[in-house]
Amino acid sequence: MVDYKLLFSKFEESIKKNLFISEEEFSKRLQPFLEMDFRKKSDKDIFWIIVYVNFYSGIRAVTIERKLDLIKSELYDYQKISDLDEDEKLRIISKIGFPKKCGYCFKNAKSFQELIDKYGSFENYVKSFNINSLTPNTDNIERLRNDLKNRFYGLGPRTVNHLLTDLGFNVLKPDRVICRIFFRLGLIDSIDDLNGAIREGKNFEKAIGKPIRYVDIIFVKYGQMGKSEQFGTKDGICLENNPKCQMCNAKEFCKYYKEKIQPASLQF
Ligand code: SF4
Repeated sequence: MVDYKLLFSKFEESIKKNLFISEEEFSKRLQPFLEMDFRKKSDKDIFWIIVYVNFYSGIRAVTIERKLDLIKSELYDYQKISDLDEDEKLRIISKIGFPKKCGYCFKNAKSFQELIDKYGSFENYVKSFNINSLTPNTDNIERLRNDLKNRFYGLGPRTVNHLLTDLGFNVLKPDRVICRIFFRLGLIDSIDDLNGAIREGKNFEKAIGKPIRYVDIIFVKYGQMGKSEQFGTKDGICLENNPKCQMCNAKEFCKYYKEKIQPASLQF
């Protein structure tokens, strides 16, 4: 029987020992992840979430974090982007890079404008799926997920869950980092077990009584390579190659550590 609360606390303890900012500042930077709720955001803020999840998809998070202010300054306002001419689009692409992702954002701005024209607001659009809370019925969230994937470019199976999570829905984005950590812990059967990762994310959420996005960001920062200016972490710990198990307080619960790392260390 997994003690999810205890296990999660081990990850929190370890990540807090690996900061280049104070614990207090780290908690402050995590605060938005405890309060995500699209109903409290403007439609422009919601479009901005569609933009940034697109950029994070498939690219190292630290690379996007460094460009986030620039991306926001150019691609935040869907009304403005919908009307750009080709020269303006090329100017933006030359500043930001990632031409394919910028191209998705230009097209998505038009689709977002159409959505707002039709429903009046993003909140009304969500309500049209009979969704009235952040913990919707499975069929309704599935219908919303599919509609979002059809409406907007760049929303694959993982990225659409990133979007739903950052809108505040009780859905975990099972990205590769989380799947790797859950697999190493022995909580899921394979690194591709996305449904298992979603189930385990919910188990953590229930146990700690904090939103799933908080659970998500702790694990993501735990396993992502590189220093994060945004969160103040020096580097990930449970890295894909050479995980830093000596820094990890969750060792005693980790199948990978017990089966692969510990036996090798005992040979010396
Ligand atoms: S592999 Fe190492 S770093 Fe990753 S969870 Fe297990 S003990 Fe922690």
